[in-house]
Amino acid sequence: MPLSRVRSPVSTVDSIAKNICEIKALLEEIRINSHQSANDIKLLAVSKGQPIENMLAAWQAGIKCFGENYLQEAMDKMRMLDIDPEWHFIGPVQANKTRDIAAHFSWVHTVERIRIASRLSAGRADNAAPLNICIQVNIDREPSKSGVDPDQTLELANAIVALPNLRLRGLMVLPKPQTDFNRQRDAFRRTAQLLDDLKNNSPQLRSLDTLSMGMSRDMPAAVTEGATIVRVGAGIFGPRDQTLTI
Ligand SMILES: *Cc1c(COP(=O)(O)O)cnc(C)c1O
Repeated sequence: MPLSRVRSPVSTVDSIAKNICEIKALLEEIRINSHQSANDIKLLAVSKGQPIENMLAAWQAGIKCFGENYLQEAMDKMRMLDIDPEWHFIGPVQANKTRDIAAHFSWVHTVERIRIASRLSAGRADNAAPLNICIQVNIDREPSKSGVDPDQTLELANAIVALPNLRLRGLMVLPKPQTDFNRQRDAFRRTAQLLDDLKNNSPQLRSLDTLSMGMSRDMPAAVTEGATIVRVGAGIFGPRDQTLTI
């Protein structure tokens, strides 16, 4: 049966709405207690592997932005969904996908090479709003992990701000998994520091305003350190179906 005909059970719809409500309250509480000034933290609902019914339930519960990792899956959902959320691309960007990504998304969180950034810029229509970009930083310098080395971030940032159809917004990280709250905070604090360093380094980078950090398991630590976008999948939707493709 096509996924568009599958109805989520009422209990799923209810639990998605309840999760969103609880996460929003939690984010607000942490933000206030940690004296973070961002007046609004963007709650990005990571919908990879989720059927569109669950996405509709999230939309009806007030979610305004969805994050997707795979272009084909995302484009199928865009076609099927009769709503107009802000779409964020958060997966690895392959060179041959840059045109479609630039055309269909408002944000790309995972830029780590100038070649990819310039292809995204070239793929964005001149009359469209600039594509919002975050540089993915390999903040823990893990050998097999995506992201630019922290020491190379300034050079990449300076190259990206020179491109016409992009608007560099800030940094995105996926730190090494830690269960301890203070260890989680440490990587996020270094990311916030890196953003500050960039802003102070050059006038062109002064307007950077985004820290895309924190997922279901570590979002309290990320918000404590100043996250402005948290990317939450399981915490909103429950466990995802790894085999689901649409
Ligand atoms: C899947 C994914 C998330 C969401 O992870 P959850 O543990 O489900 O909250 C966040 N960011 C990126 C880059 C992801 O790929």
